[in-house]
Amino acid sequence: MQRLTSEPGMAGASADWRSRLAKSVLEHDWSAEMEPVVNVLAREGRLGLAEGRLLYAHNDLAEVGLLAKLSREARFGSRAFFNHNVHINPTNVCALACRFCAFRRGKKASDAYALDAEAYVKELNRFADHVTEVHTVGGLHPDWGIGHYEAMFRAAKEAHPHVTIKALTAVEIKHLASQSGLSITATLSRLFAAGLDQLPGGGAEILDDGVREVICKGKESSQEYLDIHEAVHALGHVSNCTMLFGTVETIDHRLQHMLRLRDLQDRTGGFQCFVPYPFLPDHSRLPEAQLATGTEVLRTMAVSRLVLDSIPHLKAYRMNIGDSLTELSLAFGADDVDGTVQQESIMHLAGSSTPLDSDRRRLARIIEDAGCEAWERNSNYSEFTLLELPEPPARRALQMAQG
Ligand code: SF4
Repeated sequence: MQRLTSEPGMAGASADWRSRLAKSVLEHDWSAEMEPVVNVLAREGRLGLAEGRLLYAHNDLAEVGLLAKLSREARFGSRAFFNHNVHINPTNVCALACRFCAFRRGKKASDAYALDAEAYVKELNRFADHVTEVHTVGGLHPDWGIGHYEAMFRAAKEAHPHVTIKALTAVEIKHLASQSGLSITATLSRLFAAGLDQLPGGGAEILDDGVREVICKGKESSQEYLDIHEAVHALGHVSNCTMLFGTVETIDHRLQHMLRLRDLQDRTGGFQCFVPYPFLPDHSRLPEAQLATGTEVLRTMAVSRLVLDSIPHLKAYRMNIGDSLTELSLAFGADDVDGTVQQESIMHLAGSSTPLDSDRRRLARIIEDAGCEAWERNSNYSEFTLLELPEPPARRALQMAQG
């Protein structure tokens, strides 16, 4: 079995990826319109707002994708990554009512639910012998303070110490701090002491307060999102960051979002992965949304890889974009696929039809069909194991219609 470990801080990437990318872009012919972008990369420079606009406007999508693919290959060669995880959402009761959200319920709704520590661990018990990570996010329960989550994390860690707990979005941290009368740093410190390992990136939506006022009024501000993640990194823990696109934002909003995250990453280095995903409209309340098309998803993947250059990993979030776009995303700069998942509610209530029963082999097949090697990773991207699939059985040839 082939295994790899990564240098601390490199998350599996080549240290000299900028020079490798500079070399590889010079080995291709590019259209005249792409030259301003290619010239920056060939000088090992960084793309800014102007180049980002050009990439979004360029009419040859394949060329944008190729540039992003070269950037992925400069970092990771032909490797792509996945982990074996389960999503457990402890409650759908939420004090807020973001307009894009199909998951939240009022406390008195017939299908409202809330797990205590015992129920949470019972749920985890079902998967713990074959997952390495539990992903836990949920609503802002009006009756829960920090003690509820401390009890949950302590019980989960005690029962399953090998499972990484990746939990709580920035707005949940803000809610718990306010419920418990604590500072953000004190809240995080207590949760980490109880067993929380790292934070997911959910809740970033678009880091523009005008857009947030329309789609998620009452949520943390753009600056608060960044401050909470900075506090996570200052305490020596890592997190992810996300972007929800295809609501009411402009292309510039998306690019500014990437650049704000890049600025923070340049200071802290604490983001492991960026996860851009499109808004899914079922059961939500945002009729004016400009839904992203398939090619727009792929282009946004590619632009993210190229503009947001300091965050090592770019995730194709299968639960949201489905298996087919996930496979294509690997040719547009993504290097990471989430995940084997097992169960998920938030995206499925919003309209996702992605299968939940993917095992390692099925996921590895998606990755291999995209021309990559499938490496199972741990939650810190420091240890990797190559999954080698047996040759698939020969497929029956389809009978062609006879004229
Ligand atoms: S997105 Fe989160 S904070 Fe907003 S309504 Fe849904 S569960 Fe609540």
